[in-house]
Amino acid sequence: MTEPILELRHLEKRFGQTVAAKDLSFAVMAGEFFTLLGPSGSGKSTVLRIIAGLEPPDSGTIILEGRDISAAPPWERNLGMMFQQYAIFPHMTAAENIAYGLKVRRVEPAAIRRRVDEMLALVGLAGTSARRATLLSGGEQQRVALARALAPSPRILLLDEPLSALDERIRRLMQAELKHIHQNIGTTFIYVTHDQEEALTMSDRIAVLNRGTFVQCDAPEPLYKRPRTRFVAEFFRGFNVLSAQTIAASGGRITIRLAGHEIATDAPDEHRTRDEVHIAVRSENVRFGPQVADHAIQLPARAREILYRGTAFDYRFELPDGQSIIAMTTRHVPLAAAEPVTLSIDRADLIVLAD
Ligand code: ADP
Repeated sequence: MTEPILELRHLEKRFGQTVAAKDLSFAVMAGEFFTLLGPSGSGKSTVLRIIAGLEPPDSGTIILEGRDISAAPPWERNLGMMFQQYAIFPHMTAAENIAYGLKVRRVEPAAIRRRVDEMLALVGLAGTSARRATLLSGGEQQRVALARALAPSPRILLLDEPLSALDERIRRLMQAELKHIHQNIGTTFIYVTHDQEEALTMSDRIAVLNRGTFVQCDAPEPLYKRPRTRFVAEFFRGFNVLSAQTIAASGGRITIRLAGHEIATDAPDEHRTRDEVHIAVRSENVRFGPQVADHAIQLPARAREILYRGTAFDYRFELPDGQSIIAMTTRHVPLAAAEPVTLSIDRADLIVLAD
């Protein structure tokens, strides 16, 4: 992954008053699994459709392998697409579906047969080539759709929520398989999803979109552990986002008052001095009970409720200023209603958000 295969420069797209893309610029590296993640309506599908040539941008440039394709029609872009809906032809067999794009390109029949067999094996459907598409399960139909999209060797495969119509178990299985297939074939994937777990599981890099703007673009781990903005922290499950007051800020350091306690910590570069700041801390990094460390930030709180989450418990506490904070733990600790506790948070786990 050394050079960009695709570059979007200053992309703009509006639908009336709705902004679907606002001065969007990004580069996708060759061979990368790149994901656009964001809530419904954030502009993910529109960006994908603009890349595919199915939607014209208002302005901006699209560069594919060094060539400006902004005005090129979809069929000249050589990009594959896979959608949420089973977009395979119901009257055809699995093999006929996969062969379709190759026939259109007038590939010779023997080469088509070889490629279809190769694709069926790739997606784990060898032996089902003669089966009618409608007799396949939802997961199998999406495998056919994937094989059909990959058969003509597209420069990039664009995937728009391809697993969201599948039930949970099949979806998880397909996530692992898609990742595996991506690693096997080395084709660049650009994937659209609103599901954070799906994005974290599969992607090399994730761009989080909010109202047509990138709020953060990072590898899964830094994105999950160090959100930069309040939007990203609130979007990813498991973060407490708390409000605090700025007391002093200079040179990348900030002193804040959180629930009556003064805390000095690092501030992000983008931090502007405001009276109110938001901070994030993952619920598994909030501790209570006897293992409270001396050097950690300590906050008094009262127990409010315990939520059983299957593999863990969420303990909800109330800080003296009335804010809620959740501590996640796998231990079950009996706590009486309103019981006073001391919460501790390592300084390194407290993230001052940019806005
Ligand atoms: P996402 O894929 O993140 O859910 P979309 O790209 O589908 O978001 O949509 C972004 C915004 O643009 C939404 O507010 C949506 O309603 C609007 N939008 C998308 N396509 C059209 C269209 N063809 N006409 C009018 N508004 C549209």
